Order: sequence, then C-alpha cells, then structure tokens
Amino acid sequence: MNESVKNFYSDNHRLKIAAYRGGYLPNERRKIEAGLRDGSIAGVVSTNALELGIDIGGLDASVMAGFPGTISSAWQQAGRAGRSSSVSLSILIASASPIDQYIIQHPEYFFGKSPESGWVDADNIYILLDQLKCAAFELPFKDGELFHSNVDEFLNYLEENGILRHAGQKWYWSDRSYPAENVSLRTSTPENVVIVNTASGRNEVIGEMDLSSAKFMLYKGAVYMHQGDRYIVKELDLENHRCYIEDSKENYYTDSIVKTDIKMLNQDDVSMHGGVECIEGDVLVRSQATKYKKLKYHTHENIGYGEINLPADEMHTRAVVLVFRESSMVGKVFAEIAEALKTEIIQKLGTLLKNIAPVFLLCDPRDIGIAERVKDTEFANPCLYIYDRYPGGTGISEGFLKNIGRIVEGAYELVSGCPCESGCPSCIGPTSGGFAFIEAGGAGAGGAGTAGSDDAGSMGPDAADNMGQGAADNMGEVNIKLMVIDFLRKWMDAWARSNK
Ligand SMILES: [Zn+2]
Repeated sequence: MNESVKNFYSDNHRLKIAAYRGGYLPNERRKIEAGLRDGSIAGVVSTNALELGIDIGGLDASVMAGFPGTISSAWQQAGRAGRSSSVSLSILIASASPIDQYIIQHPEYFFGKSPESGWVDADNIYILLDQLKCAAFELPFKDGELFHSNVDEFLNYLEENGILRHAGQKWYWSDRSYPAENVSLRTSTPENVVIVNTASGRNEVIGEMDLSSAKFMLYKGAVYMHQGDRYIVKELDLENHRCYIEDSKENYYTDSIVKTDIKMLNQDDVSMHGGVECIEGDVLVRSQATKYKKLKYHTHENIGYGEINLPADEMHTRAVVLVFRESSMVGKVFAEIAEALKTEIIQKLGTLLKNIAPVFLLCDPRDIGIAERVKDTEFANPCLYIYDRYPGGTGISEGFLKNIGRIVEGAYELVSGCPCESGCPSCIGPTSGGFAFIEAGGAGAGGAGTAGSDDAGSMGPDAADNMGQGAADNMGEVNIKLMVIDFLRKWMDAWARSNK
C-alpha cells in the first residue's frame, strides 16, 4: 500500500475505512470490530481473518478480491454482508490466477457444489489419530462407541503406545501431554514472534507473526506494513521471538527468494494411475530464504537485492511423487520432449497442477507445495512432488492422488480453453515471450537441472530467461503452451487406455 492508497483508506474524512488482518494485536482488532458494529467505521479491507467467528454486524456489501480458494470460504466471505434484514450484495472480482479463471469459466461448478463437501479426509491416519486423542482426553471411549469405522484398531494402537489405557470396558487417557496442543490449526501455531516498533524509543508491540512465516517475511531489511504505515525490520531475534522495526519512508516492498529442498524419508505405497507411477510417503521439506528482492510500488520494478542470514525451516510432511518413468506410457511421452525444453515444461505442468488442484481438493492453493525435477536424484527420472504444507500433513497429498484423474482433466480444460496465444498468468504462467527456442536437432543443454520453483512469487521470469541459453541461428520456434496441452492430452489418452 503506498501513500496515495493510504490516504484513500484512512484520511478520507467522510468515510472511515480500516485495515484488518490476523497479525494485529487483539485490542486493535476488537476496536475495529466495535467500530464496524457501531458504524464509526464504514468499511474494512481485510484478509480472511474476518471470515469466521466474528460478528461484524450489518455490512451491506462485500467485495472479494479474487476467489478465496475454497467454496466454503467464498460463501463465508460473501455472508459477511447482509446481517440485517435488508438486501445485500456480494461481488467476486476474479484475478488472473488459474483457479479464479476456472471458477469464472465454470460458474456451475461454484453454484452447483455444496460447500459441505469440503475436503477433510476423515480416513487420514494423521487427522484421525489426533482427533481420537483429543476426544479420549476429554471423555473416555466406551467399547463399541462409534467414532470411525476402524476405531477399535486405532484405540488398540494408542494403547500399545501407552497413550490410552483399556480398563472396565472403557479407554482412558493415560499420557501426560495435552493432545490438542499438537493439533496444528492453520495460523495458530504456539510460537509467535512479537513485532516491536522501536520508533522514538517507545518499544511498542504492534503485531505478531508465527515463527515459521517470520523467517520469510521479517528478515533484517524487510519492509513490514501495518495499517497502511511502512516499517523496516532492524533485527529478527529468533531466540527471544522478537522482531524490532522502525519507520520507513522507502518506496518499495520486499519479497524473499526461497529455496526449497525435498527429501523422501519413507515410501508407504506405490501405485500406477493412468500410466504414471505414484509414490506416497513422508518427506522432509527444507526451505531457506537466502536473498530478498526490493520491488517498487505500482510498477513492481526490481530495484535491488539484499541478503538474508537465517536458519532454514524444516518440516516433516506427506507427499505424493509422480514419477514419469521412461518405461511407463506417460513417461515415454515426456522423454520424447526435446531435452532443452524439459525443465520449462515440467515447471509449467507443476504450476498448473498446483493451481488447479485446489478446485477439486477444496483447499487453498497455499496449502499445496510442489517441486519439479527433470532428473530426480532419488528416482532417477522426471518427477513432480506434491506435498502438504502443514507439518504431518492434513490429507492433501492423499486427496490429490484420489482426484488425480479429474485434476489432470481440469488442467487440460483450463489451459486448452485459455484464449492466450502462448501462456499467460491465467493458465501455465508467462513463458519466455511466449515462445522458446530449441536447436533444430533436438538435444540441447538442460537435463540434470533440479527445480524447486516453489518460492514466494518468483515464478516465471527467471525460469523463462534460462530458456534463452544456447539460442543459436539454427533454432526452431516452439510454443510451450501447445506442448503442455499436447502432453496433457497424451496423458489423458494413456489414462483412458490404461482403464480399458
Ligand atoms: Zn493463458
């Protein structure tokens, strides 16, 4: 938010508009909520922090800037308007993102789908065991009591591990821990960093952020926004969970460049789905921000870089790995792609699948992580890792596998239906000016490059620039978008044949 926007929101004397998000301190949030109820604040610009559980009274209209990711969230946000008996209005402004474009092009999907069919995998062992533990902690289970069809098996498992005790036809909690503490709920991680404004020596706490996000957003030199005011981070003290900031007059914002490594820890299951080998298992995801970009407001022009010196963030989670083995039907199709184009094609495929999957999994695109490898060190073949971005996993990778057929079909529909000529942010993302160049003979550079294009918003240009390497006079022009469409079509064909 720049100065002019700030004035528009906060200095308009007839209309008082407030900003609202999760990182604000409780007293500041209560003040805004009260202002909305008594009418002293006429409008609020908010993140999804206002979506649930807060009575904000009778707003007349809501405007969603982009599809919030799930159908239930969209209805929740729309429902923030119209609490009184009068007519209310809700507007969804679709962004250029693939999921928004899919929803706009398929309104029947949005209006026809019940939000109650939201994606929660009750069979997911991680979710189920945690829920069972919390339930048993509150009240002992009776023999034969219904919770889930396999509840006995899980209760026995918990007893074997000393967490429950079976006595007198009941299952009692016998562990010392408090189980709900280990159940990860989206933003409420127990460890938060407190943000301290050191301006004029006051040391005033103005906000907080979870520890993991702080490593990617509150590094030294980062620009931090609060109620339209800009601050710059002087120091992030991870040990004491404190971040010191001071006023900033700089006309740029910052965006960290994150490197992600992923390592398979164990494989639980290997299955074939439509000619692709799918491996489910546990992975270790290691993310590290090493640099940040300074981007100008308005133009988003990159005006410089800075170094970040913070420890990596490690997470154990669940993943499904799609291995395109050359011996498999779809792997063979991928192997036929010119070597120099493989990196870009698999990155575009990854971007596309990650962006379209939330439509079918009813999760937020940010819940899904993806890493693309042209030649994976573990599986020695091209791979796509799809992982759950919550420690331990919430069932997203399992859900991805269950819906993979529909996801691939949805990806094909989206990219082939996109009116762009050669790739745009609404389908596979921008390509190198739309076209890439390859040597007429086929084989080029590329090859062993690994790619984790999962960082916060640095997709596109960098990868595209690389495609220019090795461009020589005898190169032919290829359209990456058409190649992705062709690959997806062959993938669906292989699927149809494998199901016969
Ligand atoms: Zn497009």
